[in-house]
Amino acid sequence: MRAYVALGANLGDAQAAVTGALAALDGLPQTRLAARSSLYRSAPVDAGGPDFINAVAAIDTALAPLELLDELQRLELAAGRERPYRNAPRTLDLDLLLYGEARIDEPRLVVPHPRMHERAFVLLPLEEIAAGRVTAAQLEAVAGQAIQRL
Ligand code: ADP
Ligand code: MG
Repeated sequence: MRAYVALGANLGDAQAAVTGALAALDGLPQTRLAARSSLYRSAPVDAGGPDFINAVAAIDTALAPLELLDELQRLELAAGRERPYRNAPRTLDLDLLLYGEARIDEPRLVVPHPRMHERAFVLLPLEEIAAGRVTAAQLEAVAGQAIQRL
């Protein structure tokens, strides 16, 4: 199944955290990295701390959605993520954006990710590697957000 994962980090060496996570996605069981966007720099939205480094990865995986979420959360923990409060600065955030055409609404997992269309730091990198999954109207809606392609 083709799935899309948003990566974000804004503590420590955020660029290294995102680059390392891209490699780690390729190393997940039954999973390979199919494509990756450029890196982006974005200002925090409803969050404190330094700018974020963001990217989106396309993966081909035989993991079921919740198995994939488990693996993403394991990678977050391995990157030293702590969650003292909602939207706290984080060493690594991995969000499952899309899983094929699946629509999932479970306590632990909602797909498509419910806030992805509000966020330039998701839509711009996603558009780079999956243009058909982002519309011009969606891009227009986030055009005012501060973001820079690195
Ligand atoms: P956020 O990414 O919104 O800043 P977190 O990374 O702390 O917040 O995620 C909070 C919870 O969101 C996780 O415990 C996870 O179970 C849940 N969640 C629901 N849908 C998704 C999804 N599509 N991708 C990642 N996490 C999700
Ligand atoms: Mg998250």
